[in-house]
Amino acid sequence: MEKEWYRYDLHVHTYEGSACARSTGAELADFYKEKGYDGIVISDHFWRGNTRVDRDLPWDEWLREFHKGYENAKARGDEIGLSIFYAWEYSSKGNDFLTFGLDNDWLLENPDVVQIELVDYLKLVREAGGFLIHAHPFYQAPYIPMIRLLPNEVDAVEVVNAPKGPFVNARAKEYAQAYDLIETGGSDCHSVNWKQLSGVEFPHPIGSMQELVEALKMREHRVFLMEEEPVVNGDKPYKPGSFKLPPPPPDPNRQKLVW
Ligand SMILES: [Zn+2]
Ligand SMILES: [Zn+2]
Repeated sequence: MEKEWYRYDLHVHTYEGSACARSTGAELADFYKEKGYDGIVISDHFWRGNTRVDRDLPWDEWLREFHKGYENAKARGDEIGLSIFYAWEYSSKGNDFLTFGLDNDWLLENPDVVQIELVDYLKLVREAGGFLIHAHPFYQAPYIPMIRLLPNEVDAVEVVNAPKGPFVNARAKEYAQAYDLIETGGSDCHSVNWKQLSGVEFPHPIGSMQELVEALKMREHRVFLMEEEPVVNGDKPYKPGSFKLPPPPPDPNRQKLVW
């Protein structure tokens, strides 16, 4: 019987590519097949993020190593019938952007991506036809010095990052809606023991990264969340009180601004 909806996780880390991930690409392929998914996007932490691959390697070798989590997932996915797509999670000063629709050939020709400023990176990616999702834009952690929003420079916002919890995700949804950005979901999965899973589902199967990007752009999808354990960040209980709202802005009538 044909399914009505086909499920994809857009945010998955492998042991091969991410220093913080605990399961290999092949193990993750089995895990997602068992959970009823039709495909996953491997989105390992990139060069300026928490990558496992040695940054002292020459660029072409670094890229070859970085690609292995995807390759191992793809080999297993082909055996068991799970689609595997390649992406990466670009980080700049604690802010993260899932980069879809480009490949290692493009990266090989653009080694500057590890040095240029965030806005320049985002512009470069979109000029090349890439698709950008701002991952968990309202997540706060010691390694994230500030929340930064760049609504004109991204295509989509991750409005459900399964382990980040309802506060962070609700703010992200407000942001996406306010700027009419495409809404996506993902698990930010780091192991086969992940308890909070999400993603997007389409009324038809997706055959390639290009098809995935086109279907997202056409907004053919809906975001889903299946939480086995409602926790934040994989291990800490969610405490709304721990997020203090900033104080209101000063009264403009009392403030003299000099530009
Ligand atoms: Zn990680
Ligand atoms: Zn991630």
